[in-house]
Amino acid sequence: MAIERTLSIIKPDATRRNLTGQINARFEEQGLSIVAQKRIRLTLEQAQAFYDVHKERAFFEDLCNFMITGPVVAQVLVGEDAITKNRDIMGATNPANADEGTIRKDFAESIEANSVHGSDAPETAAKEISFFFSELEIVG
Ligand code: ADP
Ligand code: MG
Repeated sequence: MAIERTLSIIKPDATRRNLTGQINARFEEQGLSIVAQKRIRLTLEQAQAFYDVHKERAFFEDLCNFMITGPVVAQVLVGEDAITKNRDIMGATNPANADEGTIRKDFAESIEANSVHGSDAPETAAKEISFFFSELEIVG
């Protein structure tokens, strides 16, 4: 295991329900540090660029439209094995399949409005972090 960075997004369904603090507490309680954070409203073009990897998927257009329904909180999490650890804290994409005690099990509204995004590999983490943050904004 190594110290890693990962990109997290608290999605509009969660910011709308005032869940930012509860979600952040889960990261911090489970050993991830929030070393950068900003609350922003994505444009449709930004949402499409962020999710470009999914552009051929049937859910792409709905997903991008959902991501601009309200503010998101983009954040960089740091810790031991942070990419996998964050995915474990988040739970499965579909909340119906998510383990007990995960963010998506407890908070997600649907497979689309599933409260959080987390990078899935070191390469995507680096790319997604630089999408939102400059190195100057990441303070460990
Ligand atoms: P994850 O966020 O768990 O890495 P994916 O990368 O596969 O999942 O999908 C990105 C996002 O697209 C999901 O978090 C969810 O918001 C949405 N999504 C994925 N699959 C579906 C689906 N079958 N129907 C609607 N939305 C979906
Ligand atoms: Mg993904």
